[in-house]
Order: sequence, then C-alpha cells, then structure tokens
Amino acid sequence: MDGHSSCGKSTMAKTLAKKIGYTYIDTGAMYRAVTLYAMRRGFIGKDGIDEESLRKELPQIKISFGHENGMQYTMLNGENVEREIRGMEVSGNVSPISAIGFVREAMVALQREMGKQGAVIMDGRDIGTTVFPNAELKIFVTASDEIRARRRFDELSMKGENPVYEEVLKNVRERDYIDSHRAVSPLRKADDAIVLDNSNLTFQEQDEWLMEHYLKAARE
Ligand code: C5P
Repeated sequence: MDGHSSCGKSTMAKTLAKKIGYTYIDTGAMYRAVTLYAMRRGFIGKDGIDEESLRKELPQIKISFGHENGMQYTMLNGENVEREIRGMEVSGNVSPISAIGFVREAMVALQREMGKQGAVIMDGRDIGTTVFPNAELKIFVTASDEIRARRRFDELSMKGENPVYEEVLKNVRERDYIDSHRAVSPLRKADDAIVLDNSNLTFQEQDEWLMEHYLKAARE
C-alpha cells in the first residue's frame, strides 16, 4: 500500500492484517527512526544534512518492531521510539532524509528481507513501484489535503500534543511535494495499483472496500 501522507494507510493496513493474520510492516516508521537518529546525532542542521556522517553511521542504526498488547512499536537500537518518531519535529525532517539514495537503499534491503516470508502488508511510498514490484495486490491511497491534515491533527491531539492545524497542513503538503519530486523512488502510483480516495469514506466503508479487493486478489 502506497499513498500520500496521513491518508490512513496504516490504520487500514493494520486492520486488514489483523483480520487475515498477515504481518503489518510500517516502512514510514523506519525512515522516521533514521531521521530521529540523525537529529539526535546533530546531522541535521540549518545548512542541511551532514550526509557523510550519516552514511558512516548507517550500519550502526538498527531498526526493528516490537509488540505489546496487540500494538506495534518501533525500536531504534533497542529503544522504544514510537512516540518520538510521530512528533512534528521528526515529521518536519523525515522527507529530506528519505530522499537520500543510500538511506533508501538500506531501508529497501531491510524491507525486502522482512517481506521475504510472504503474508505481509507493507505500507509506504514506493512499495508497489520499488520494494515489491511483483506484489499480488497494490493499493494507492489518497484523500484531500485538508482532510488528511485534519486527521493528523486529531491524531496528534489525542496523543496529548498541541498541534497547530496550519502547521500540520503545511507539513502534509511539504512531505507530499518532496516525496513525489525526489530523484530516487519518488512517490508514484504503480501502473497496476488500484486507487482508493477515502476522503468521504467511513472506517467501515474503507475496510470493506479493502477486504473485497484482498479476497479478489487471493482468489486470483
Ligand atoms: O508513512 P509516514 O507518513 O509515516 O512516512 C513518513 C515519511 O517517510 C514520508 O513522508 C516519506 O518521506 C518517507 N517514506 C518514504 N518511503 C516509504 C515510507 C515513508 O520515503 N516507503
């Protein structure tokens, strides 16, 4: 599953994965964890990103997923960073980090390894075009900018952050722009992906839509 920022891909993917017993893999969390690492090490400054230092330390960045009470969380070098990687600071830096070729190479290799055993639902930006071009089912999800920003705003508010709607909207638009215009694996609908615009769908409606397409693909 690929698509624009904050369009509810991960919620849909997690729900379907639970129903059909597949493993859900959140590739955005992996790029977010690399970004947090780079921020903590001071590799992201006013003048840009210190790519050379990041390249040198990339082999030391270990990303994995843990599970507790049916919830998945992201681990960076053994530390649970789930909360921190979802904040606005990481969101503001993640797209430039994700545009770096060697970062993508390392993450794609890890994602292919994680998906090797099959029965996986992976969500991101380049899953259908680059990571698994032969996936049995490809979905491209989108929704209007304002609706996506509102959803992200509500999610951050529920987590106890104090987001500003205009900033969230700006971040959503900026990430989409950078993600779609980067040289390496830009966000793009794979030719054989099915598009879902969920701007006006309820959770139940989008889950039913996805299940229908999953069952059809499974039959084929
Ligand atoms: O999915 P999420 O919004 O958490 O992803 C955060 C960012 O990570 C995206 O805006 C994009 O820059 C990057 N990303 C990517 N390729 C993926 C998944 C995420 O470049 N497969």
